Amino acid sequence: MAIRSSNKWVRPLVQTLHAYVPGEQPATRRLIKLNTNENPYPPSPKVLRAIKQAVDGRLRLYPSPDARALREALAEYHGCGVENIAVGNGSDEILALATRAFVEPLSSGRPADDGRSVIQYFWPSYSLYPVLTAIHGAQSNPVPLPPDFSLPTIAQLRRQKQWRFDAALTYITTPNAPGGRGYPTSELAALCRAQKGVVLLDEAYVDFARENAESLVRRFPHVLISRTFSKAYSLCFQRIGYCVGPESLINALHRIRDSYNVNGLGQVAAEATLKDLPYYRRGFEHILRTRQRVADSLSELGWSVYPSDTNFLLAVPPGRPASEWQEALRKERIVVRWFSAPEISRALRITVGSEPEMEEFLRVTSKLCKRFAQS
Ligand SMILES: *Cc1c(COP(=O)(O)O)cnc(C)c1O
Repeated sequence: MAIRSSNKWVRPLVQTLHAYVPGEQPATRRLIKLNTNENPYPPSPKVLRAIKQAVDGRLRLYPSPDARALREALAEYHGCGVENIAVGNGSDEILALATRAFVEPLSSGRPADDGRSVIQYFWPSYSLYPVLTAIHGAQSNPVPLPPDFSLPTIAQLRRQKQWRFDAALTYITTPNAPGGRGYPTSELAALCRAQKGVVLLDEAYVDFARENAESLVRRFPHVLISRTFSKAYSLCFQRIGYCVGPESLINALHRIRDSYNVNGLGQVAAEATLKDLPYYRRGFEHILRTRQRVADSLSELGWSVYPSDTNFLLAVPPGRPASEWQEALRKERIVVRWFSAPEISRALRITVGSEPEMEEFLRVTSKLCKRFAQS
């Protein structure tokens, strides 16, 4: 039986939206998956045991509505109080909550004179920000980064005139994605000091970087950081992210979130993760060594590789357009990410996988470099 359908009950704003486009999650396991920045190493055995031990008749019960035990463990980890932590269904949910808590939707689609409806971010950065802005009916202000993706100074932002110091909410991805560059805390501090609205520092990749900006949360009452267990802690499947910040901002997130927004097994997994951090730190060292090796090898093969403080490399391939390279790699069972946005369409984003995976990636890449040089 066909189900009849019509758009007429859907809000006009929602009719115009385009959903976020996630990287492909291929159904077959026979691929080398370097497209969504997952950690190539599994969660620690202790974490897997904790999850398995939590799977019994208690699944019928609701989990802690405010992820209490996990927030206590996170507060200890960050040296703050539980009132300074909110947990989300991935840090994506934290970003969505911040949008709803701190930004006025445009009334009848018209921009206000001040920045109360403005959501601001550098471009290129995380492509979820424009999607969240559109969903909320807010005004987006994507400000171009320089070609090397470094952070502009306050003076440059003033000269360039597009930056809004009065924006209600500014997202800064640090280290940045898909560029990969980490931003010095001193530069971020200058930017935070100059902003009137909330600044959310999205530190999804911070465990692979040399610096983190946690101290800014203590220095400024309008600054939040978001973190995730997805990338560095091998828990993408469990969807756990969180936010650290001043109590009044954190309370605002608590007031608008769903009552049971974080699933119970995810809470168990994240708590167990915090008890076994040395296991993960060994993994980070592996990934950083592999990152260096792959960057060096790609440079030797004629690729132009951006500096990275993350678990991925952005690199411009030689000989053929990046989109063609992506297809050629895919035929060899290697999946990498290509973005059509003009600022980055010359490059591929390559997740740093395990050592054997990257050996294979380099073998195939070197073969394709020769083939493309001949034809
Ligand atoms: C992956 C990612 C996130 C979201 O991660 P979750 O899985 O939702 O915790 C947030 N910001 C950036 C920049 C990311 O790359």
